Amino acid sequence: MTSYDPYLLETMMSQLPFLRQVREYVRSLGLQLSDFADPSMSRFTEAAARRVEEALIYGVRQPSGRGLQPSEEEVISYPLAMALVAMLSSPKAVRRFAASEAERYGRILSTIAGERIRDVLLYLAGEVLGVEAQAEKPPYEFRVAVPQYLRLAVGLNEPRWKLVNRMVHRGYVYVTRPEMITLVKNGLEHHIRRRLEEMGRVDVPQFLEPYVERLKKILEKMEWRRTGPLSRLGPESWPPCMQALRARLLAGEPVSHFGNFSAASFMLRIGMTVEEVVEMYSQRGDFDPRIARYQVEHIAGLKGSRTRYSVPRCSTMQTHGLCIENGRLCGGVRSPMEYYRRMAAAKGGRNIDRKASQESG
Ligand code: SF4
Repeated sequence: MTSYDPYLLETMMSQLPFLRQVREYVRSLGLQLSDFADPSMSRFTEAAARRVEEALIYGVRQPSGRGLQPSEEEVISYPLAMALVAMLSSPKAVRRFAASEAERYGRILSTIAGERIRDVLLYLAGEVLGVEAQAEKPPYEFRVAVPQYLRLAVGLNEPRWKLVNRMVHRGYVYVTRPEMITLVKNGLEHHIRRRLEEMGRVDVPQFLEPYVERLKKILEKMEWRRTGPLSRLGPESWPPCMQALRARLLAGEPVSHFGNFSAASFMLRIGMTVEEVVEMYSQRGDFDPRIARYQVEHIAGLKGSRTRYSVPRCSTMQTHGLCIENGRLCGGVRSPMEYYRRMAAAKGGRNIDRKASQESG
């Protein structure tokens, strides 16, 4: 502890509530779940339910806007939010909550300036994730032992995370500061998931039933959206990569073969007709409606091998240089379709809110 900046750790506590010090602080308050049934505690219950709801609907929770200032609500609502997720008995809710919290922590970490971020990352890696990382000189500001690097990088599918593409020296993998933030964020996501899985099934006390019911309805609605037909959203709600491709197509600017394929598969997946998709390519200098129609029908699975092609994942889009700002605007999605579904859920989510409030009113 003494080697870390005590002021920074204290102010971080509210934003990073999984820290041991935070858990000890909450424990010292002696709060039991039943204490939240008291009306004077309702702001914490509301905050916890909001936290889970935002994770389910939007997939990411925004930082509170208070920077790193402590907030009692933030600290106390965290274990309660974890309990609410456990009460949902839904692996999907667990995954989404963990990813949402981790994404938010990643954003917070990216805002810590100067040398302090190094202390914070080393602290989180060591104290929270049990990974021994060491400071190095730029451009590689950190090194992590190979087995522990592999543990932190689990699930990171981009080629750059593969060991063969890394600088490895004497059993250590060397990483830059932004890479260390991604690794710690990824490690935190798995850490939160593990903690939720360890909690297992939690019985729902009576005073939390309305909250749990509401969250279950959101989950059901999301499941329907995933399996049911996707509602068409305007291009302003498309992922940035697809918006950029659309703009280039409409302007008649050159687009790579893979870019054309990605845009067509995306437009078909969101429910545009073959005619509408063909029309998007009509500004190309070499446009031939017959060939364009054949190609689009092929991607739709109506011709040739009858395979309906999927929209490429973000990692593939990145490899082909089609991702915009390295996904900074996309809240950690893994595919353009995930982005689109989140937007659809967010727009529908407001309807869910209205419906739920009508039902409860
Ligand atoms: S992160 Fe994914 S959805 Fe967002 S711009 Fe990049 S490829 Fe598109």
